[in-house]
Amino acid sequence: MQYYNSIIETIGNTPLVKLQRVTKGIKGTILAKVEYFNPGNSVKDRMAIRMVEDAEKDGTLRPGGTIIEGTSGNTGMGLALAAIAKGYKCIFTMADKQSQEKIDILRAVGAEVVVCPTNVLPDDPRSYYSVARKLNQDIPNSLYPNQYDNPSNAIAHYETTGPEIWQQTEGRITHFATGVGTGGTASGTSKYLKEQKAEVVTLGIDTYGSVFKKYKETGIFDEKEIFPYLTEGIGEDILPKNVDFDLIDHFIKVTDKDAAIMTRRLAREEGLFVGWSCGSAVHGALEYARQYLSDDDVMVIILPDHGTRYLNKIYNDTWMKDHGFLERTYATARDIVQQ
Ligand code: PMP
Repeated sequence: MQYYNSIIETIGNTPLVKLQRVTKGIKGTILAKVEYFNPGNSVKDRMAIRMVEDAEKDGTLRPGGTIIEGTSGNTGMGLALAAIAKGYKCIFTMADKQSQEKIDILRAVGAEVVVCPTNVLPDDPRSYYSVARKLNQDIPNSLYPNQYDNPSNAIAHYETTGPEIWQQTEGRITHFATGVGTGGTASGTSKYLKEQKAEVVTLGIDTYGSVFKKYKETGIFDEKEIFPYLTEGIGEDILPKNVDFDLIDHFIKVTDKDAAIMTRRLAREEGLFVGWSCGSAVHGALEYARQYLSDDDVMVIILPDHGTRYLNKIYNDTWMKDHGFLERTYATARDIVQQ
């Protein structure tokens, strides 16, 4: 019989899919690594299970324990699956700019979710970072994995995402592009790929309103770079330990609007019904590819999550219009009949 002992054994080994239409006029082969094939529908399953298993090994998580994390939703889903498989409780703190769907999904798999204000500084006691830390102090036998600084995050990608891409491209990868949030995906995967072939160029996709690009280029943590933005999962107002700036060659900033439009194109033109940061990654990577790629180059772009979590935002024409991201809503069949 062919079966898995639990859902967490299905994490990883996601497919590479060639982008066919949005890459028109661009040289080289552009491949998307479609991470929504993971059981929690995102790339974050990989590091969630790794953080839990490493905490079990070093004794910081013991039977009956509670996992507490500040998460934009995807890490929470991965941790929730790991917790179910291994018998732990979960409490997540989230910023209130996150999709309602993400909160609902976490509650659906049995987690407790505490919603915190988005527009407060990270060290404000109301921020989702501070609330997670406080809960961890107050609840006995609780683990605060802290995905931003926990080395198990990048190690998970060094041990799974990197080797998968290397094998799937038969070592022909020349460029690797991914959004940067905690930095685990970018740093861990890039480390593995550069160890195999030092010339691999790693592109980190950032947002306007985030500190990464400026820090890479000037070494300055510039608070003036920080302002609220809408894209979920990438960009930060802190410098997580998991962002290894030596392993990310260039940062490219993408606007909320360009990301939203590219995400919708991926759904309609490629059949890839993916999340908002996927549009950021593809838009930024293609901007670079248009200028620098040649025929023999092979670029791999990580698509971190699935589109369902954004149905009421970027996939909703009215929402897009209200945010000035779409000039008009598309004509419906009824509009056409009435004309
Ligand atoms: N996109 C989405 C939707 C995410 O949830 C995350 C995780 N924060 C990322 C991209 C970035 O991944 P990482 O944390 O590994 O940098």
